[in-house]
Parts: sequence; C-alpha cells; structure tokens
Amino acid sequence: MKEIRMVDLIGQLAHIREDIVSEINKVLDSCWFIHGPQVSQFSENLADYLNVAHCIPCANGTDALQIALMALELKPGDEIITTPFTFVSTAETMQLLGLVPVFVDIDPITFNIDVTKIEKAITSKTKAILPVHLFGTATDMGALQEIAKKHTLKIVEDNAQSIGASFNFTDGTSTSLGAIGEIGTISFFPSKNLGAFGDAGAIVTQNSDLAEQISMICKHGSKKKYYHEIVGVNSRLDAIQAAVLNVKLTHLDSYITARRNAASFYKHALDEVEEITLPSALHNQDHVYHQFTLRVSRRDELKAYLKEHNIPSMIYYPVPLHLQKAFAHLGYRIGDLPESESAANQVLSLPMHTELDTEQLEFISNTVKKFYLNS
Ligand SMILES: *Cc1c(COP(=O)(O)O)cnc(C)c1O
Repeated sequence: MKEIRMVDLIGQLAHIREDIVSEINKVLDSCWFIHGPQVSQFSENLADYLNVAHCIPCANGTDALQIALMALELKPGDEIITTPFTFVSTAETMQLLGLVPVFVDIDPITFNIDVTKIEKAITSKTKAILPVHLFGTATDMGALQEIAKKHTLKIVEDNAQSIGASFNFTDGTSTSLGAIGEIGTISFFPSKNLGAFGDAGAIVTQNSDLAEQISMICKHGSKKKYYHEIVGVNSRLDAIQAAVLNVKLTHLDSYITARRNAASFYKHALDEVEEITLPSALHNQDHVYHQFTLRVSRRDELKAYLKEHNIPSMIYYPVPLHLQKAFAHLGYRIGDLPESESAANQVLSLPMHTELDTEQLEFISNTVKKFYLNS
C-alpha cells in the first residue's frame, strides 16, 4: 500500500507535472514575474469559473481577508460577527484593523456559524457578518442574507476552504460560495482544494466600485503608479503561482469529484459506528470535502491508535478563537460558546485528498472501526 498522507500533493503533481513545468517555463522565458499575462488570465479564468463579475488576485488568503475588510471602510471599534471555529486569519485581520470580532456559536452539524444565533449578537456597532464556509460546505446564506438585509450589514465570505461549492437558494437559483456577499475571499495555500505552489489568494465581488477599491488597496493605494490615494498594502499574486493555478483550475472539478468519492467511501464504511458522527451539509447543499471531519468519542485515543497504524489525522481546530490567548482581551470564558468548544474537543479529520485509493480508504476505515469494536 502507498504511504497514507493527510494531503498528497506529490501524487497529485505527478499527473500534471509536464503541463505545469511548461507553463512555468513560459514565465521564466519572459522574466515577467510581477503582474503579467498569467495573472490577468487567472483573474479571468477564476471569475468565469465562479461566475462572478470581478476577481482580484492577491498574495494569500489572509491578505484577502484584510483587504476585503479595508475595502468596507469601517472605523476602529466597529463590530463584525463571525465564527470562533475557524483558522485564526478570520479574526486576526479584524484585530489588526482595530475592528472587534464578535463570536457567535456554531451549528453542531455543519460546524459553520449558527445563523439563528446571529441577531442576538447585533449591536449598534455591528457593521458586517463574516461567515466561514468551513471544511467544504456552506453556511446558511439564504437566512444570513435576510438578516444582513434587515439590519443593513455587509457580508464578507471567508471561502478559503470551499472553492467550487455553491449555495442553492430556495427559489432554485444557485450561486458560488464567495460570490454571494459583498466580498468573498479565497486562499490557494498548497493544501487547499485549489492549491498553488506557495502562498496565493484572491478576492471576488460582484460590485464594480468595491472591485476598484480592492485593486487599489492591493497596489499601495494607487490607481496610477506613484500617485497614492489611500494607504494600502502590497499584495500580489506572482506570475509563477498564476501559471500553476491556471493549469490546476482546469482540474478543480475532477479534484472535487475525487474528494467526494473518497468521502462517500468513508461514509458507507463508517456509517454503522455508533461513536462516530459523519460530516454533513445543510439540506439541499453540497460538500466539496476540503476536510473529512468526524465528531467522535475518545478522540485523542483514536488519533494515537491511527498513528500507531501509520495513519495521519488532524485536529481542526483544537482551540476555538474565543479561547485563544491572542483574543483574551475580548473577555470570553470557557462555556460561552459551548458548541464550538465541544467541537474542538471532539473533531478529528481523516486523510482527505485527490489521490486516495480504495486500498488506503479500506485500511483507514477498517482501522477506525477496529478501534471502536475492540475497546
Ligand atoms: C487557509 C485559511 C485562511 C488563510 O489563508 P492563507 O492563504 O494561508 O493566508 C483563512 N481562513 C481560513 C478559514 C482558512 O482555512
């Protein structure tokens, strides 16, 4: 059996190496490393793929969040409602800009912000809601849009983990995640569903004024070189990463299919195990399985048992943001957001990537089952 990896970038690259090398060589031949045709091509390709009006590539997903928040022109002290069960970037960027993250507990089924709990957290300082579509599946964007509309709040979607998934609205229409709120942010960190060969990110929006503001912020606050209208940042997608992403974007749908096939194998194999809750999406919504995250009893023992059998697994995330030292000044206590806290104690993500074969999936599933049957 092939070595089991949490993410198998080596196996994935083997299938497309020639195409990638040839695209990278074009960049080397031109030595046009900043901006350049690959970057504008990727911006168009991604906008087409997501069916969104504007796509502004940037340096990484964390920058994408920071720039999105800068583009909303908020004031220090303004509050943004978000989930505590996410990667730190989501709230870190708020803090850097003097904005106040207000954490609302999660829905235990999807691990995404529990939209029914948002209204209670809205104050006169609330300016935006920042949902994260965690692990590959959507937050309830229909209900979230209604709340945002009722209270005139902006929506920024952190879509670092669910590129390629859509939200299916009750009227039968469907919109790519990231393209629903005022702004959506994406990460192409190598292990993400569409991964570059280093850091990369993008910001998407349907609004042309915001798009102009965002691209100005990315370029040191300038529209015309050396004329700076506002204080911005330097955040660019470099041409080599764009060349890689242009090739990999053409494979994204097949990568998603491979992830779904692996997920459906796990689901069938683990369905009968009482101690396990399998991942699931909201009614009528899809899942692109950035992670395959179980909720289990005796999580740390299971993790150690898998490790003994050379099966990696990961805890995403061991500490919810409201209990992180970096956010201690916000004054949250243990017990404030019980669903997030119990998720942090119970989740375990199994290996999930595009290269898992049946032998590996069988071995992983059987080992998980054996742990619960033998003890
Ligand atoms: C990966 C990730 C980010 C940050 O992306 P980088 O490209 O690593 O900066 C932000 N939010 C979430 C939810 C992520 O998973």
